[in-house]
Amino acid sequence: MLPSNNPKLKSWIEVSPESNFPIQNLPFGIFKTKEILPRVGVAIGDFIIDLAELKKLGVFNALNFDTQVFAKPYLNDFISLGKKTTRAVRERISKLLQERNHELRDNLKAREKVFHKIKEVEMLLPVRIGDYTDFYSSMEHATNVGSMFRDPKNALLPNWKHLPVAYHGRASSILVSGEDIYRPNGQTKADEVEFPSFGPTKQLDFELELAFITHQGKPLGQNISTKEAEDYIFGLVLFNDWSARDIQKWEYVPLGPFLSKNFASSISPWVVTMDALEPLKIAGPDQFPEVLPYLKFEGNNNFDITLEVYIKPENSNETLVSKTNSKFLYWNMAQQLAHHTINGCNINSGDLMASGTISGPTPDSYGSMLELAWKGTKPLKLISGEERKFIHDHDTVIFRGYGEINGIRIGFGELKSKVLPSITPK
Ligand code: CA
Repeated sequence: MLPSNNPKLKSWIEVSPESNFPIQNLPFGIFKTKEILPRVGVAIGDFIIDLAELKKLGVFNALNFDTQVFAKPYLNDFISLGKKTTRAVRERISKLLQERNHELRDNLKAREKVFHKIKEVEMLLPVRIGDYTDFYSSMEHATNVGSMFRDPKNALLPNWKHLPVAYHGRASSILVSGEDIYRPNGQTKADEVEFPSFGPTKQLDFELELAFITHQGKPLGQNISTKEAEDYIFGLVLFNDWSARDIQKWEYVPLGPFLSKNFASSISPWVVTMDALEPLKIAGPDQFPEVLPYLKFEGNNNFDITLEVYIKPENSNETLVSKTNSKFLYWNMAQQLAHHTINGCNINSGDLMASGTISGPTPDSYGSMLELAWKGTKPLKLISGEERKFIHDHDTVIFRGYGEINGIRIGFGELKSKVLPSITPK
């Protein structure tokens, strides 16, 4: 066990038991205020620690790296330092915050400069995402979608249990929590008509996913094995892969989704490190038939993370519409990364790889409106009395995610985005 993950640790900063950010978490993000430029911060309880200020106290001197990485507007340069250094930084911050450590606790002048209240800062996109890949790793989701659109008896395509299916997504339109999205326009075609029509999507959907952010990988031609995978994964965020189902249905054959997905995806602002998530590891589903040798792995590689989706119409309270768990994922992250690189494809610091929609086995644990309202045939009732088949304009969709172990809650906070009406094309 890493010293920072000890459930007995307590901080001299008071943290409420419901907080997603106890001393055992210490996620990294990018923030700014009216006075200070974007920079790296770490969350504890209701507070953010300004690492660009903290480093001035010399607390990282023994670690021997360029602490200018903390004054950058993205985490990429920090993540590029590699797992050994990012881990040492988190361990050092953990030490500083432990109740008996006086270095920062008793330096009131420094504390004033180093700490901000999270609710008083603006959280920004944590990484400059170079490449974004979206997997399709939930068997329940793939089965539901296959049943709806193809054949319930052969819902999974023949390759599905032999490789983690994925496609390359669009990085430029990935937004951080709090940023609004516009309803996309596009071509759609109903089954009963001959030609497509054009207009705003009538089937705007969310996809509940987790995504991992990578460290710098190996040169072209080399692969990352399942055994090595964790050395190349910095941490995880909540991920909403916004989708326009009617546009998707018309455009996706033969090359897959394009404009139905690339108009926006949203991520949570705090990157929870693989180190903090270590205690939440759990075995995944049995894989049968046996996978090829390069996809075999050792140990527990799934995570026991509760995931929730809420819909909040304008002028109304939020309704919980789905509750699931990432432990249901068939393909784990080590397999995803091993598969992604087995052909020699390289990865860079700050690449983002999403799990695919995470659906559980029961209808209240599905990860998209397409499944929850089953293609619009079973509308969801909201506490306002309204119904939803898909997402309406001015709705806010909220994801929350956390795992609990030994009474400690390791969480992601919130991913929250509001849908604005489409802009009429020129
Ligand atoms: Ca997706």
